[in-house]
Amino acid sequence: MAKKIVRDVDVNGKTVLIRVDFNVPMQDGVITDDNRIVQALPTIKDVVTRGGKVVLFSHLGRVKKAEDKAGKSLAPIATKLAEYLGQNVQFVPFTRGVELETAIKALQPGDVLMFENTRFEDIDGKKESKNDPELGKYWASLGDVFVNDAFGTAHRSHASNAGIAANIEEVAAGYLLEKEIKFIGGAVDTPARPFVAILGGAKVGDKIGVIKNLLKKADKILIVGGMSYNFLKTQGFEIGTSICENDKLDLAMELLKEADGKIVLPIDIKVTKEFSNDAEIRVADATDIKPDEMGLDIGPKTLEKYAEILKDAKTVVWNGPAGVFEFPNFEHGTVGICKILADLDAVTIIGGGDSAAAVIQNGYADKMTHISTGGGASLEYLEGKDLPGVSCIDDL
Ligand code: ADP
Ligand code: MG
Repeated sequence: MAKKIVRDVDVNGKTVLIRVDFNVPMQDGVITDDNRIVQALPTIKDVVTRGGKVVLFSHLGRVKKAEDKAGKSLAPIATKLAEYLGQNVQFVPFTRGVELETAIKALQPGDVLMFENTRFEDIDGKKESKNDPELGKYWASLGDVFVNDAFGTAHRSHASNAGIAANIEEVAAGYLLEKEIKFIGGAVDTPARPFVAILGGAKVGDKIGVIKNLLKKADKILIVGGMSYNFLKTQGFEIGTSICENDKLDLAMELLKEADGKIVLPIDIKVTKEFSNDAEIRVADATDIKPDEMGLDIGPKTLEKYAEILKDAKTVVWNGPAGVFEFPNFEHGTVGICKILADLDAVTIIGGGDSAAAVIQNGYADKMTHISTGGGASLEYLEGKDLPGVSCIDDL
């Protein structure tokens, strides 16, 4: 079902509550990566230009006790945002109360206000994270329209998304959320074919469930990284000391049976005897790993085989690095996939924090169609789950 987007809303003179994802990495009060701020600009600028009164809010990190508040204020982010917008951003260091209400009432069309970290409400009974009905209702009372532009938390039902949405007249998606719905939702629901998924990384337990849904959608699923060993082991092959989720071996077998050839596994693996960049490396056939060896990257024959499969792909979703790319001696598979995808004439979508980091670090960001801003959210979306932060948006 098509969702209402901020462009469909008449914001002129209205107080527009915008849930952004300003959960940016910070070190000693300095923002180390402002990508999420940049990505939020189109929605904010559009509402400002059309005469809306903008009220912004976000979470930042995890806040469970009063001590956790140190370094988690959104104040430095308001300063950074003001630079990008070229206009004043009024920062209110509270999440509720008379001061906040008065400041919001005083806003003029085109003004921008940001209030404090929504997770400060978690100190007293996890009101934000448990979607306390009173809190969602209160925040909703501060505005006329709610725009959700935070995809990173869309898989959670929090007061600052679902809670507000349940208590306000009009709910729309921001442009960043629209992009995520369009690319990830589009890939899953109406992909240009062939549709190839590449799954890897280390969080095998979290991700193996995605395969179940993708089997119904994708034409091929290429397995890389730490995901490989569950599939090798369940077929009786030795995997040595490679990463493996032993309680997911039956599921791996079930998926292989169901896959009817759709799941493709590595044929060679770079193995070592210790988890280190400098340990001696052997390229082993995937069925010939020794008991004292661990696989830390896919081998060259696998990369070649995968390149051949990917050659004609029209949609590619990639989640999870092909190896321990943090070690230069084991980055070959991950960088190789970056290169292959960069040259494809296809929609290429990258999900997952580490996969996105690998693409960005190696200079391939502008060669991909879409790099998702939400790791967990993009996975749950691919799994076919309902995301509370998306389903709370009005249908068109
Ligand atoms: P993402 O953040 O893209 O969703 P994950 O968090 O699941 O990906 O996994 C990323 C991590 O997986 C990286 O730190 C990488 O070192 C690790 N990894 C990849 N392949 C292997 C492997 N064969 N053995 C151990 N760790 C691996
Ligand atoms: Mg990760």
